[in-house]
Amino acid sequence: MKDTFKHKGLRQQLVKSIKDKGITDANVLNAIGKIPRHLFMDSGFIDHAYQDKPFPIAADQTISQPYTVAFQTELLEVKKGDKILEIGTGSGYQAAVLIEMGAKLYSIERQKELFKKTSKFLPKLGYRAKKLVFGDGYKGLEEEAPFDGIIVTAGAPFVPKPLMNQLKIGGRLVIPVGDDIQTMTLFIRKGEKEFEKHEHGSFRFVPLLGDKN
Ligand code: SAH
Repeated sequence: MKDTFKHKGLRQQLVKSIKDKGITDANVLNAIGKIPRHLFMDSGFIDHAYQDKPFPIAADQTISQPYTVAFQTELLEVKKGDKILEIGTGSGYQAAVLIEMGAKLYSIERQKELFKKTSKFLPKLGYRAKKLVFGDGYKGLEEEAPFDGIIVTAGAPFVPKPLMNQLKIGGRLVIPVGDDIQTMTLFIRKGEKEFEKHEHGSFRFVPLLGDKN
């Protein structure tokens, strides 16, 4: 597990390209500049780690494109100490970004293989989540609610009710909604039953899967 001078250089170029695409949150850019993304990928793909592209990881899943990670994280408006729930731990890269920004992170993954792999890997890099959970993200994490922010990193065919209910008043839910192509959607909880909704363009994610498929 090496992070060389070359990796660091490539990473700074990646940060620049994400900035050029419109990301302005300094904390997000700083986190992406720090995290050795190449270590989150299977070895064959290491040379591609600092291109702004998604890549395959284990269990037919993908590590999201860095720009997409940055875009979703910016919408979440993470502040140090915020309690954040992530749906879809995957490689752990998005989780590392959130932890690097000072979030108290909870993350749920439904694939056992990825859950096991990432649970071992993240602490090795020094990234400690509050809790990594093997389970179904459609249900959220009732026992730890409410959250300042919830981020869904797979395409959701609909907005799961439990996720709305598990937001603090003032909390933010960032979720790509749709089947083949998703609309990046931000919900801000304004009151017990009031939510503000903002749409932020089209993205393409692997699907958020139900319990049994
Ligand atoms: N955040 C990840 C992106 C992974 S892709 C990263 O930074 O690498 C989406 C992930 O969501 C996959 O790992 C997939 O297994 C997981 N997923 C799909 N449906 C889910 C569900 N219902 N609950 C929790 N995780 C789910």
